Amino acid sequence: MRHAGRITGEALLVARDAIKPGVSTKDIDVKIRAYIEKCGATPSFLGYNGFPASACISINDEVIHGIPSDKRIIKEGDIVKVDVGARYRGYNGDSARTFPVGKVSDEALRLISVTRDSFYEAMKAARAGNRIGDIGYAVESFVISNGFSVVRDFVGHGVGANLHEEPEVPNFGRAGRGARLYANMTLAIEPMVNKGLANVKVRDNGWTVVTEDGSLSAHYENTVIITDTDPILLTDVDNY
Ligand code: MG
Ligand code: MG
Repeated sequence: MRHAGRITGEALLVARDAIKPGVSTKDIDVKIRAYIEKCGATPSFLGYNGFPASACISINDEVIHGIPSDKRIIKEGDIVKVDVGARYRGYNGDSARTFPVGKVSDEALRLISVTRDSFYEAMKAARAGNRIGDIGYAVESFVISNGFSVVRDFVGHGVGANLHEEPEVPNFGRAGRGARLYANMTLAIEPMVNKGLANVKVRDNGWTVVTEDGSLSAHYENTVIITDTDPILLTDVDNY
């Protein structure tokens, strides 16, 4: 899990360095795949339920599951979400970041930072003895207090030998409710935060999830190990 997590996190650094105006989302995907394979790992997303690429790359009002395309060109002012998984020796990492491209609006930057900070609110609640609902409550109460909303139709999850495992980890919930957390559980905790309403819909391609009201959305995800104290972040190789 540590190796898979490190490779996943490094693949996101490759994406961060490659994202600039004029580059296609396919170009980013090709670089991510090449890096993962160079490490002796395989892209967890490629072929998963038929997904045709190594990364999900979602721009602006696209929340998750954007399909890389040579026709989708990144522009100044976009916010670009990259979600990556790498499988190494039978175990998976899963991580996502939201990258601003050039000069973006102050509100977009605030959305990105609130989303990141909501993950760290979750980290305070994610420890052995607490419950899944403590994580969701921490994320949503923080996000709402900042005037944004959390996506409710898609959730975090356990991760390990399979990319998606039990338990589900919603970004909302009631403190003290849900499955208990134990040391050494490995979870993908991933706030998806909308500037407007929480409602989302799936585009005609059957994959890409977008905000129903067209507002911006941000995503921040790490694979973590639950412990008796602070969680261990496996995919955060550069603390950004
Ligand atoms: Mg992910
Ligand atoms: Mg995930």
